Amino acid sequence: MAQRYDIAVAGGGPAGSAAAWHAARAGARVVVFDKAEFPRDKPCGDGLTPRAVSFIQKMGLAAEVDKFHRVNGARIFSPSEWALSFPRRPGMPDHGYVARRTEIDSVLLKQAESAGVEVRQGAEVVGAIVDDDGRVTGVELKTGERVLAGAVIAADGAYSPVKRSLRLASQYNGYSAIAIRAEMSIAGPETDSLDIYLKLAFQGDQLPGYGWVFPLGGGRANIGLGYCNSYKKWHQINATQLFGEFLSSLPRELDVPRIDELRESRALQAWRLPMGFTAWPPWRPGVLFAGDALGAARPVSGAGISKALQSGTAAGECAVAALTNGGPDDFTNYAQRVRSDWGAEYRRGRFFHRLVGIPAVANTGIKVLDAVNHPGFRSRALFWEGWR
Ligand SMILES: Cc1cc2nc3c(=O)[nH]c(=O)nc-3n(C[C@H](O)[C@H](O)[C@H](O)COP(=O)(O)OP(=O)(O)OC[C@H]3O[C@@H](n4cnc5c(N)ncnc54)[C@H](O)[C@@H]3O)c2cc1C
Repeated sequence: MAQRYDIAVAGGGPAGSAAAWHAARAGARVVVFDKAEFPRDKPCGDGLTPRAVSFIQKMGLAAEVDKFHRVNGARIFSPSEWALSFPRRPGMPDHGYVARRTEIDSVLLKQAESAGVEVRQGAEVVGAIVDDDGRVTGVELKTGERVLAGAVIAADGAYSPVKRSLRLASQYNGYSAIAIRAEMSIAGPETDSLDIYLKLAFQGDQLPGYGWVFPLGGGRANIGLGYCNSYKKWHQINATQLFGEFLSSLPRELDVPRIDELRESRALQAWRLPMGFTAWPPWRPGVLFAGDALGAARPVSGAGISKALQSGTAAGECAVAALTNGGPDDFTNYAQRVRSDWGAEYRRGRFFHRLVGIPAVANTGIKVLDAVNHPGFRSRALFWEGWR
């Protein structure tokens, strides 16, 4: 016989853990399914922005997150070097961290478990269960087990099997980036900044993207690059080759490994990064989408962990509120919350995503950033509303 929960969460990444924790704290009976066994890795730059840190703190993990490598700002190479500090905002830290996903994601999932969430690892969801009225009523696992719930939260990542099983379209479909990264040794003094390299070219075209060097501490760094699919030749790019060129362009004193060594040691990981709401509206009867399954990452910058935590938090709280006050057919409260918190920002972001896909525009933008030495202007131009 099928089990029944108030809320079933597919995916135990940052979005799923935040959703489950908030729903359980509001009194719901919650289960999380993740196909992986934790600790598991996730291809990522491992950079936690101040906003991401604030959501982790909200889950009672201020001391835990403080154990990771702290960063106090960003250094931008465009190609001249300039520094940006994180803005001071009420109730939010003025610093971030670089945290391996094997570690921070386990901390988050464990916190959900300690709030009473049932966590089932090694449990692959193959799709949603849908009733005759088209409402999602649960999830089906690879083993054939069917689990019923008042609401399903799809937090199952960029390739979301729940979303795919529902064959959903979004009016904003198609906004995404491709990113590749590796963890490696790095020489030189320890830094406390996220280093971002804006000059990234393919066949002489400036790409809508950037390379990064994020310090993990202890002589290790997460290095990678990403570019948006608004560049019309994006599918011709060999990401590994581009990454190799980026590594050889880095300062010699960093003494980073060659691309062949990374390839041989299987350290390279590439992944898709949907952005700008690729599942809009963010709910359908019986189901809410969060994190990469929602396409919640910020257009162009690709900051996705903070938005996974933010959308997960909202999905968990809104699911419980809707189930308590009406039922699973209407999660408009979730759409309203996401739209009022960051809808306008993402309207501009999608426009920016398309615009910087034109190499001449991207090139001019970088030249202007390089020339206009004003931190407020640079911060707004790069991150629209400061570093989030
Ligand atoms: C190379 C790269 C670098 C990035 N760098 C940064 C960065 O530095 N900072 C930042 O903020 N963002 C970064 N991002 C974006 C960030 O990684 C994502 O936005 C974030 O991980 C989204 O979290 P999530 O919880 O939605 O999804 P995920 O973290 O992908 O978690 C989804 C979970 O669902 C599980 N799952 C998948 N399929 C199933 C299934 N069938 N059944 C059950 N479980 C399933 C997975 O095992 C996984 O645990 C980067 C992305 C890429 C690709």
